[in-house]
Amino acid sequence: MKQEKQFETESQQLLDLMINSIYSEKEIFLRELLSNASDANDKYRYMSLTKGDKFPTKEHLIRIEADEKKRTISIIDNGIGMSLEDIEKNLGTIAKSGSKEFLAKMKKAKKGEEVSIIGQFGVGFYSAFMVADWVEVLTKPYGGKAHRFYSEGKSTYTVEDAEFDQDSGTRVTIHLKKDKGDLNYSDYLQTWRIKNLVKKYSDYIRYPIKMVVKVSKPDLDAENKPIEGKYHDEFEDQTLNSMIPLWKKSVNDVKPEDLNEFYKSKFNDYEDPLISLNVHAEGLYSYEALLFIPSHVPYDFYSENYEQGLSLYSHGIFIQDHYKDLVPSHLRFVKGLVDSDDFPLNVSREMLQKTPEMTKIAKNIESKVLAELRKTKKNDEEKYLKFFEMFGEHLKYGIYMTYGANKGDLQDLLLFHHLNDDKYITLEDYVKNMKKDQKSIYFAAGRTLDEIKALPQLEQKRADGIDVLLLDKRIDEFCVMAIAEYEKKPFKDVSSESESEISNEKREELDRLASDHKRILDNLKQGLTGKVDDVVFSAKLVDSPVCLTTKEGISMNAERVFNEEPGAPSDVKSTKVLEINPDHDLFKALCEVSSDEEVAGYGSLLYDEAMLLQGFEIEDKAGFVKKLNTLLVKAWKA
Ligand code: ADP
Repeated sequence: MKQEKQFETESQQLLDLMINSIYSEKEIFLRELLSNASDANDKYRYMSLTKGDKFPTKEHLIRIEADEKKRTISIIDNGIGMSLEDIEKNLGTIAKSGSKEFLAKMKKAKKGEEVSIIGQFGVGFYSAFMVADWVEVLTKPYGGKAHRFYSEGKSTYTVEDAEFDQDSGTRVTIHLKKDKGDLNYSDYLQTWRIKNLVKKYSDYIRYPIKMVVKVSKPDLDAENKPIEGKYHDEFEDQTLNSMIPLWKKSVNDVKPEDLNEFYKSKFNDYEDPLISLNVHAEGLYSYEALLFIPSHVPYDFYSENYEQGLSLYSHGIFIQDHYKDLVPSHLRFVKGLVDSDDFPLNVSREMLQKTPEMTKIAKNIESKVLAELRKTKKNDEEKYLKFFEMFGEHLKYGIYMTYGANKGDLQDLLLFHHLNDDKYITLEDYVKNMKKDQKSIYFAAGRTLDEIKALPQLEQKRADGIDVLLLDKRIDEFCVMAIAEYEKKPFKDVSSESESEISNEKREELDRLASDHKRILDNLKQGLTGKVDDVVFSAKLVDSPVCLTTKEGISMNAERVFNEEPGAPSDVKSTKVLEINPDHDLFKALCEVSSDEEVAGYGSLLYDEAMLLQGFEIEDKAGFVKKLNTLLVKAWKA
């Protein structure tokens, strides 16, 4: 059997990029192929742990062979291997989403930028075409048939039946391009070059990377003593890597660059992480963890494809990627791995979820991440801001989802927009800066900062210099409601009717006004039956004539957020109050209107005006325009 097949379009584009790449560090191809070989060994090892009868255990290794005459380099593993379908799925198409992202980035890149993008990206198998005229893959799954794949990386590849003298695994052979000018591909055939590359990129790979190396040995005399100046060549099977996984090395031996490189190659990112954590925990439960917070929001973060969780290792052996139970969902942006000897080795995935060690370690990891965030917040404001703008909302969800039960851990990590300046503020600072007799933490919520800042009910606060948190994210109001109070100060919505800070004199004045103008208030209320529960005089307004507030229960903002959720129950309604500014000309003019009916009619106009000012839709637009026109006609005629 022999078949020629087309690469999928995206693969062709990627291949094109690779073949024509002018990138000087073409050397990364070796790192990529070794990492694939290591993954393949991991996968076999996992199968033999879980389905031992079908996959007998074996010693895994990776071998590099370089043939100067044929100008080939081969990377051989004895891992999982690929079936015919696997070859098509994995090599004929871009299997991995990271490559797609890479391709998208490259398409958008400006001239000159491409180069750095290739270097930072894990581009996988296809990177072989940066140095190869053609690539050959001989592969066999355990108990299955062997196949050969080969391609020049143009538009097609060929697959055919083959023989392979291993029970499972893969041999990738690169047929190097000819040297051209500065591009000395032959270099990659040199032992010293290969050794350097393995040390540089792949030292931590947990399987021995072996190579038969020619070494010069002194000739020995009859007494086994070296004869001076006389040497001969011998072949020695050497292991080129130290095999100590990065996380098993002592913390002091791991440089920040090592962590960055590791992160990028393991998690297919092109940027260094924003925050890295190298944890060696000793105690009741011991584990090592490498934890990372990316410096950009993963492109699929908000899609269903995003897989939260950490990679799980036990005794240094890979068990599973994206293990969800190791990080709570409000830290779903954390990537990394955890290795512990306390995790059982011969585990099924279901069983593992239930071990108490796992729960303890997960808790511990959570507190390490939060501690690191606190530290960053304190020591590197700029970095923390970058973090918070990307992922801060998840912390708020964390508080909301537990109804505030974990607020102690999270609330001090939150940043809020606020009225008094354009920077963010923490709850701690807000409370520190509160007016002497201020009892509550004020907040105003809405869709955008501009909309919130335009809320009429902020006017008196602004005039009095009282600060207000401005909540412009959907989750915000729900989050502060879940926190309920901070340092014994309750949160208070400026859009709620009741006013805690109002003085007794002011209260009396408003009560007097209300009894003096009972007729107007009653008429307005009557004209707004079904829309508002009450019409009252306000202590919140300075320039605006009216505003809408709500009684106990759900706010107008929360009502809107709820109703925008798909499948929201329709009975979620706020109880509204129309508040009137008694000092405003509009009210003074209204006092001159003698007809009760006319006053009632103006009620809906004032209501609609408040709705508009507060960023809400008015329900009866035609009615609003009609009433406005009647007034205009009146004004123009007068
Ligand atoms: P990545 O390894 O990042 O997923 P690659 O382009 O390097 O992307 O490889 C695509 C897929 O091909 C891998 O996910 C894997 O399934 C398969 N593959 C590559 N190399 C090997 C190998 N040596 N043994 C088994 N499968 C392999």
